[in-house]
Amino acid sequence: MKIYNTLTRKKEEFVPLEPGKVKMYVCGPTVYDYIHIGNARPYVIFDTIRRYMEYKGLEVNYVQNFTDVDDKIINKANKEGVDSTVISERYIKEALKDAEGLNVEPATKNPKVTEEMPEIIEMIQTLIDKGYAYEVNGSVFYDTKAFKDYGKLSGKNIDDLEAGARIEVDTQKKNPMDFVLWKPKKPGEPAWQSPWGEGRPGWHIECSVMAKKYLGDTIDIHAGGEDLIFPHHENEIAQSEAANGVTFARYWMHNGFINVDNEKMSKSKGNFFTLREIVAEVPYDVVRFFILSGHYRSPINFSRELMQAAANSLDRIKTCGKNLRFLLDRAEGTINDAERELVKECDGFRAQFEAAMDDDFNTADAITAIFDLVKFANVNLKESSSKELVEAVYNEFNALCGILGIRTEDKEAEVDVEKIESLIAERTAAKKNKDYARADEIRAEIADMVIAIYDTRAGVRWSVM
Ligand code: AMP
Ligand code: ZN
Repeated sequence: MKIYNTLTRKKEEFVPLEPGKVKMYVCGPTVYDYIHIGNARPYVIFDTIRRYMEYKGLEVNYVQNFTDVDDKIINKANKEGVDSTVISERYIKEALKDAEGLNVEPATKNPKVTEEMPEIIEMIQTLIDKGYAYEVNGSVFYDTKAFKDYGKLSGKNIDDLEAGARIEVDTQKKNPMDFVLWKPKKPGEPAWQSPWGEGRPGWHIECSVMAKKYLGDTIDIHAGGEDLIFPHHENEIAQSEAANGVTFARYWMHNGFINVDNEKMSKSKGNFFTLREIVAEVPYDVVRFFILSGHYRSPINFSRELMQAAANSLDRIKTCGKNLRFLLDRAEGTINDAERELVKECDGFRAQFEAAMDDDFNTADAITAIFDLVKFANVNLKESSSKELVEAVYNEFNALCGILGIRTEDKEAEVDVEKIESLIAERTAAKKNKDYARADEIRAEIADMVIAIYDTRAGVRWSVM
């Protein structure tokens, strides 16, 4: 299994530190709003990589944080007149619903900054004690000049960075590239007691602390979107390696951007679509499939047309699943020699699939292997095929789709359709009667069943979240 390592800029054979076990840390979202399609990409990509490793027999300890202390959360909380935890807990819940909709396996652990404060303070203190950080009037900064490897991940040179840095407003820093580990309390902000006074941590320290606490000083894989390479991951390396004295992460993986008109989709630019907006038009499964259709390091352009193309492709896979299940229900008789040859031929698709995934998780080529299998099934299976043959093909098909987290059966089949539809009808009636309180109550009741409903021009549509 080869992984492209951002640190060495090469594809390397993946060998976990401890045989059979993988320690993987993925930077998670800042929870002040619904996640957008761009944020959905690392969710789907690193989940798929984890699934493939599990398929290969590796045990993956998968940690993904929630950044629940941040300016944007605080601003929104102040606007709404609530505590910032009200905002962060709301959007953590929504992000988890989105992850479930995308068929992302639950993380082993989802730590939150607010719950790791003693460990954060402890690591900052260690950095001060070891001469890598300094305190000024209640702020603590990381001394980037003290860490000789600063810049090794992003390939940036600290002197060039400094030359290019804007004139600093913050004159407390020794050097412009120094970054904040602890900020003093400001009015209207949540704060924690620390040896440097009341305040809150800077952004970068949380990941160093959580990776250490839940995975150890040296981890196998550290991942996130490529915007995190600098400064976030560079700073994580500086913090962790200075504090722990050992290599922090052995393989650094970064997904490319989802762009809109060739520009990175982001909240700040306003060129974003929330995942919720999109799943009002196509099911979550299509979004997952859309994301997996390209190589994870290449940029992808988001457009409704491409999303529709993904929907059509996925439909071909689901139709094949339906046909295979139909044949499986009816097939009987024993396998003959010609069919035995077909079973052997069918095994070839798995080899094709694995070759693609072993080459830095080329999901696009892995999907091609699935389509080749679909074609093979369409050409070779008939109502007269033996049960053994149909079963062999179906198992193969299901296994390969399952590794990518592609559901071959609509989840709708597992839910109480009648109940949902009667609730939707009741809600429509309540809205007609202007009884919006009842309508909202019903929406919440439906949401509790992990069902999302969408009011579209064509009427109310629903899907499993
Ligand atoms: P944030 O909440 O901005 O910290 O982002 C959460 C995760 O989504 C990080 O791993 C980001 O790198 C990733 N991300 C943000 N925007 C995009 C985008 N347009 N395309 C791909 N990944 C993104
Ligand atoms: Zn991080």
